[in-house]
Amino acid sequence: MPELPEVETIARGLDRRVAGDTVESVWIGSRKQPLKSPAGVIAATLEGKRIVRVSRAGKHIVFDLERAARVTTSSQTKKDKRSGRSQPRQAAFLHQSDAHAQWIVHLGMTGRIVVCEPAAEVAKHTHLIAKLASGRELRFIDPRMFGKLSVHAGGFDPGGVEPLEVTEERFIALFRGRKTPIKSALQNQKLLRGVGNIYADESLFRAGIRPRRRAAAITREQLGKLHRAVREVLREAIALGGSSISNYVDADGEEGFFQLQHRVYGREGEPCLVCRTAIRRVVLAGRSSHYCSKCQN
Ligand SMILES: [Zn+2]
Repeated sequence: MPELPEVETIARGLDRRVAGDTVESVWIGSRKQPLKSPAGVIAATLEGKRIVRVSRAGKHIVFDLERAARVTTSSQTKKDKRSGRSQPRQAAFLHQSDAHAQWIVHLGMTGRIVVCEPAAEVAKHTHLIAKLASGRELRFIDPRMFGKLSVHAGGFDPGGVEPLEVTEERFIALFRGRKTPIKSALQNQKLLRGVGNIYADESLFRAGIRPRRRAAAITREQLGKLHRAVREVLREAIALGGSSISNYVDADGEEGFFQLQHRVYGREGEPCLVCRTAIRRVVLAGRSSHYCSKCQN
């Protein structure tokens, strides 16, 4: 499942490829599961829109859209020529409520989004194809349909705070009085956006905190360490992901990413890279957690 660094990498790759391009038409398959907004609304919102930028909010990919200028120019240019006031008209147009919109893609477990030539074979489980003015296509594919597509008028807010932007004070305050294990709190999307199982384990290892510790019982100093660890882990993973994204977006998605060398995640029984103690695995809220019993307490 893509976590924050992967989604960030995908969003950056998409931004490089499709920002400035315009959606000419949209095909949506008959499966309703991936759609959080009705198919007709998604198609109507995307068609004729220019993709201003693609970014990440939590684990969501956000396409900022604005109505493509050329859709409205034919009638407008004439008027503008007569009045000689093209600038004010343009400004007025941009304030119309439907001139801007957002397309939100959540990849879920198995979703992927590819930019390809129209001749490329349409993969099984393709749920949406957007034809772009450049001649390319943007396709959303998801075999298991945990991914979700929706459109918003603007200001999409997935809740929680961005782990890469949150200040230390705010970060510490998130966990105050929480009786849940710190690992569960780290993954609570209402608190922090986008930290999943792998990066939670890796961050806790670097901060020297065991995953089952009660969040409320952790000292400010340790939470400060954790704040730095979370950001460090995510930044390193994003830096690594940047070099593999072109493969991921281009091809059929099987390449995967360069991964951060995990220090604990998935290393049960293997020696800790710091102290050689065997890494332990415990199950917490149905998910595996990995830690070193000597380096973390
Ligand atoms: Zn250790």
